[in-house]
Formats: sequence, structure tokens, C-alpha cells
Amino acid sequence: MKKIEDYVLSIPDFPEPGIIFRDITSVLQDPDGLHLAIDSMQQLIGETEFDVVVGTESRGFMFGMPLAYNLHKSFVPVRKKGKLPRETVSMSYDLEYGSAEIEMHSDSIRPGQRVVLVDDLIATGGTVEASIKLVEEMGGQVVKVLFLMELAGLNGREKLKGYDVASVICYE
Ligand code: 5GP
Repeated sequence: MKKIEDYVLSIPDFPEPGIIFRDITSVLQDPDGLHLAIDSMQQLIGETEFDVVVGTESRGFMFGMPLAYNLHKSFVPVRKKGKLPRETVSMSYDLEYGSAEIEMHSDSIRPGQRVVLVDDLIATGGTVEASIKLVEEMGGQVVKVLFLMELAGLNGREKLKGYDVASVICYE
């Protein structure tokens, strides 16, 4: 039986020279790859009790939504600045060059709600760290941080000390 690694394509020099981009569209475009990815992530949630899946734009939507649907939980998006139509809370974070800003609707998480945060991949951990801060600013409790893939060499987990972090596959 094929493993998730077999469906991920590694693209050298994208989006810049020297970067190996792990492409997940090759996972999703295969029905078996899609099932394996979602089922493997769902297994990592296990018996964790929670209320909301929060997914980060845009690949976090692709994996977060089916998990929320399967487990009959709600889904809340973290979006790039300027996309959400109602009142938002926002957070800036550093990128390798410059910075980025993400937002959530300010009523999207109620105080005390338990959140599973989902993205396709953790690299430096900046995106997920900023997302956690937004959830916590609204009074949510992050009970699990879940990825399909982890680039361990970039030490993203260092930013997530104290959180329950899991990924299906890990690249050094
Ligand atoms: P971080 O903030 O952890 O440095 O970067 C993670 C974010 O960038 C995630 O939202 C992820 O979608 C995107 N990302 C960075 N590198 C890759 C990659 O090689 N493959 C994919 N699929 N996404 C990446």
C-alpha cells in the first residue's frame, strides 16, 4: 500500500532557488492520496475532545474542512489581511523577508472553546504561532496543532513548546 510520502511531489527551486517545495496538490488529485491524508490526520486527533477546527489560508482549509465535517465540528478560517467582511482580530508575524498579517472574525471563537489548529505544513512555525495567538486572544484553548507535513530542520516546533503538536510525515 502506498504511503503519503509517495503522493507528495518535491519541487526543487520553488518558489525560490534553493527551496524544495513539498507539493500537496499531487496528494489531493489522487482519490487514494486524499483519503489517506485526511484519515491519517483524523487518526492523530484520536480521542482529543474539541469544538472547532481552525484552518489557515489556504492549504489549511483543504485539510481542516474535511476533518471538521467528518467529526461534526465547526470550521473557522484564518485569512490573509483584508479578506474577511466583518469585524476582525489580526496579528502580524515575520517572514524571511518582510512580514505578513492574518485575521479571524472577532466572534469566530467563543471563550473556552477548544480548538484543533490545522495546516498542511509547518516550516518555521511563524504562521501557526500567529494563528494560536489569535485564537487565544479570543479566549479559545488550542488543544492540538495538526499538520500533514513537518519540515523538522526549520525547528518550527520550538515556537510551539507546551502545545500538543502532531504531523503525519516529517522531512529532515
Ligand atoms: P511557516 O510559517 O511555518 O514558516 O510556513 C508554513 C506555511 O507556509 C504554511 O501555511 C504552508 O502552507 C506554507 N509552506 C511553506 N513551505 C511549504 C512547502 O514546502 N509546501 C507547502 N505545501 N506549503 C508550504
